[in-house]
Amino acid sequence: MTTADAHTPVISIRERYRDVVSEKWPVIVTPQLDELLSSWLHRLAYANGIAPRPFARVLGLHAGMWSASLDLKLPVDIENLLRAYTGISPHWLSAMMLTRSSLKPLLLPLRSSGRRDGSTWLQFCSRCLAEDAQPYFRRRWRLATQVSCVTHRCGLRDRCPSCHSRIAAFDQTELVPQHYCVHCGFDLRRASKVPMSPPAMQLDRCINDICRLETMTGSLRSGMLVQCLLRMPSITDSFPTASLSSLSTSMRIRCVERLADRPTDWLTADDDAVAAHWRRSVLDAGGYGPLISQRADALELKRQRKVPIKHRTPTVALSALLGTYVRMMEGPRHRPFRNRDWTSG
Ligand SMILES: [Zn+2]
Ligand SMILES: [Zn+2]
Repeated sequence: MTTADAHTPVISIRERYRDVVSEKWPVIVTPQLDELLSSWLHRLAYANGIAPRPFARVLGLHAGMWSASLDLKLPVDIENLLRAYTGISPHWLSAMMLTRSSLKPLLLPLRSSGRRDGSTWLQFCSRCLAEDAQPYFRRRWRLATQVSCVTHRCGLRDRCPSCHSRIAAFDQTELVPQHYCVHCGFDLRRASKVPMSPPAMQLDRCINDICRLETMTGSLRSGMLVQCLLRMPSITDSFPTASLSSLSTSMRIRCVERLADRPTDWLTADDDAVAAHWRRSVLDAGGYGPLISQRADALELKRQRKVPIKHRTPTVALSALLGTYVRMMEGPRHRPFRNRDWTSG
């Protein structure tokens, strides 16, 4: 018997063993709409009977903000491990991360100053959490510009209303879902709604609609809008030196409330005349949220299918988008545009 022959039976036994014993973790958790990778990881850990903090060790990580860091950068070995043990696709992982987001400069920082009026890394809407079958944290709640929930017409929170601690699900050592405060056990779904005036809600919606659209068209890369938004506290004269992303959600809501009573020229001044015109159109219309969401999602899907990630360039000129929106908003007189799927043109 040769050496090769002697090894053959061993290999076949191992292959049969693999057939009957799954290498995947017992419970697979499906990512939800706009879910953050960290939120999905906390749910994955809980579903498999491990609290988030010890789950970090399963991934070869140390304690601290391990999951929040993975939202921004996922090492290849951890990506491979997650794919092997959960079967999740690279596309899903990428969709939950913030790595390639053009809005990265507007993200809330992971480090917190510890000040009462300082930012924390993550916000939430208690009503959204209460209505979720499996409560989860959204990617958009990481943005400094997002201070309200359009669905529930209320402001967001960035602290537990009971003990005023930030969200720290990554630090949880008990086997409880992530919507319970790590420090005091308060159920975040029970937090009361944060009131916001209708004009402030509308301005917040317009700002985020504009950001989203300029992300799609690529014009956000010029940086002018981002700089303008980060300066919002100084425009209100309340916090002359503070950056928007350094302030707590309640302070940012205060900024938006004050700006809602003023002219919006601070938001429409831009070297790019088309971008400035488009922003004015969104502000005048009070935001094109549902329309933009639907069309932007279709555009993004088409772009992801057609363009390799390394060579992504804007596929739609802002002027073309603007022209189409204007025609659509003008209504039934423009029949050729009424039923046209403008993602195909
Ligand atoms: Zn909500
Ligand atoms: Zn608490």
